[in-house]
Amino acid sequence: MINFVQQEIENDLKAGKYTDGIHTRFPPEPNGYLHIGHAKSVCLNFGLALHNGGLCNLRFDDTNPTKEDVEFVDSIQEDIKWLGFDWGDRKFFASDYFGKFYDYAVELIKRGLAYVDDLTAEEIRAYRGTLTEAGKESPWRNRSVEENLDLFTRMKAGEFPDGSKVLRAKIDMASPNINMRDPVIYRITRATHHHTGDDWLIYPMYDFAHPLEDAIEGITHSVCTLEFEDHRPFYDWLLDSLGFDVNTRPRQIEFARLDLTNTITSKRKLRQLVEENHVRGWDDPRMPTLCGLRRRGFTPAAIRDFCERIGVAKSNSVVDIAMLEHCVREDLNDSADRVMAVLDPLKVVLTNVDDGVEYLAAENHPKRGGSRFVPFTREIFIDREDFMEDAPKKFFRLKPGGEVRLKYAYIIKCNEVIKNTAGEVVELHCTIDPTSKSGGATAGRKIKGTIHWVSAKFALPAEVRLYDYLLTTDAQGNLPEDFIAALNPNSLIVKQALIEPSVRWTNAGTHYQFLRLGYFVVDPDTTPDKLVFNRVVGLKDTWAKVKDR
Ligand code: ATP
Ligand code: MG
Repeated sequence: MINFVQQEIENDLKAGKYTDGIHTRFPPEPNGYLHIGHAKSVCLNFGLALHNGGLCNLRFDDTNPTKEDVEFVDSIQEDIKWLGFDWGDRKFFASDYFGKFYDYAVELIKRGLAYVDDLTAEEIRAYRGTLTEAGKESPWRNRSVEENLDLFTRMKAGEFPDGSKVLRAKIDMASPNINMRDPVIYRITRATHHHTGDDWLIYPMYDFAHPLEDAIEGITHSVCTLEFEDHRPFYDWLLDSLGFDVNTRPRQIEFARLDLTNTITSKRKLRQLVEENHVRGWDDPRMPTLCGLRRRGFTPAAIRDFCERIGVAKSNSVVDIAMLEHCVREDLNDSADRVMAVLDPLKVVLTNVDDGVEYLAAENHPKRGGSRFVPFTREIFIDREDFMEDAPKKFFRLKPGGEVRLKYAYIIKCNEVIKNTAGEVVELHCTIDPTSKSGGATAGRKIKGTIHWVSAKFALPAEVRLYDYLLTTDAQGNLPEDFIAALNPNSLIVKQALIEPSVRWTNAGTHYQFLRLGYFVVDPDTTPDKLVFNRVVGLKDTWAKVKDR
């Protein structure tokens, strides 16, 4: 692991800091499902701990009672485990520290570094000033320590209505950094918290709670995304003010968040997609959530590989989603067995083949080998795309009078095209070259095209779901305000397909390569009577091409 955060850790160790070892944390707020952006943070935080022989905590940053839910607490754990990481016995809830936060707030008041303010939220905003203009001090700023202690105790006891008072850090209303202009650190909110119930009427603000959570847990490196860079001075101010030793206390390091083309990584927008039923749920295979990617058939190994390859930088950029798909393809190419399926069945009658069945050996995997038998019969189906009536010269699949090889089977020749009254092709009549099978006299005969097929008699019906991006715009940054109107109407296409019988007893989560069509995974909607597959990715690797250029 070579990245600038690792470099910083090594510098700290060289400087004699953190002699008790490296300790990181992954701090999700349980207000949504984890997505591919979070995977970057999970891989980085757990990865840094592993690389340095340290520890990584899972901490639910649940200091905001209004948006959070246990459903998310459960899903987040499942998803981190699925990605392959383990927090051991170090699962924490920031809400467990509410008592300690309160004590630290009292300590700040005692040190003359915090005060109770009666200004309204609007007034506080107006007093804050702007980037070019200093802020104005609140008339309540110079209350005595005794008065502040008394008011803060009464805020906690519920003597004041919501929003009527706040506790603020006393720093500098003229600071060029707006985050240092006496930030609010506690507010009154009568809300039931999913972990602490109605125990608390006052809740700490994120910027106050986070450094304390880190310090309480003995975190050494608090890695977060770039938008917190301007918050770091307050992070340090708070820990300094409370007397935490600079050689052991946590330090915040910011890195660039992951932004992917064609992908929504805003929790709020993902939630909207689910709540307004634009997708089937958080685990819809089109969602960039980890449960969505899992259902789609993306593998943890591929996602970890992707997170390693994108690296960790100090400036934001957009990563091409083709790179993630490339990682998935690489992983599945090694692991997935090959089978034959036909997505748009076109019937072919092989007029010189008897009724009955011939079992042909088919290779399961080009590297791992293994084989199975596929039944070959007089009537088969091929993919409609593999036949063309007025074919251009370079079309090497089936055309009237033309020849093509059926994978694992014979060379066939198209003699007759049967159409319905609407003029649509409904059936082809072909003959096989009986000597062209592997081992036969003309087995080596050169034929440009090879196509996949299934036996009409033995193939199993299967619902195959083909996915495209929810967003056709490139980057999230280019998202129109009304992104719902911009959603791709063709992001899901369902095919009634046919698949070879060898997959009959397959299980949800099993991957296959459908020859020539892509990688597919068995969807949990599969029942003993109905097979359902999701296309993970097609075979065409646009990323590999970009790389080779
Ligand atoms: P919110 O706006 O609700 O805070 P969030 O996406 O930051 O949303 P958190 O639950 O706070 O969600 O995120 C947990 C951790 O994952 C944080 O440390 C955050 O920095 C990191 N993270 C979130 N989104 C990304 C992303 N796109 N790339 C990298 N890290 C991310
Ligand atoms: Mg966050």
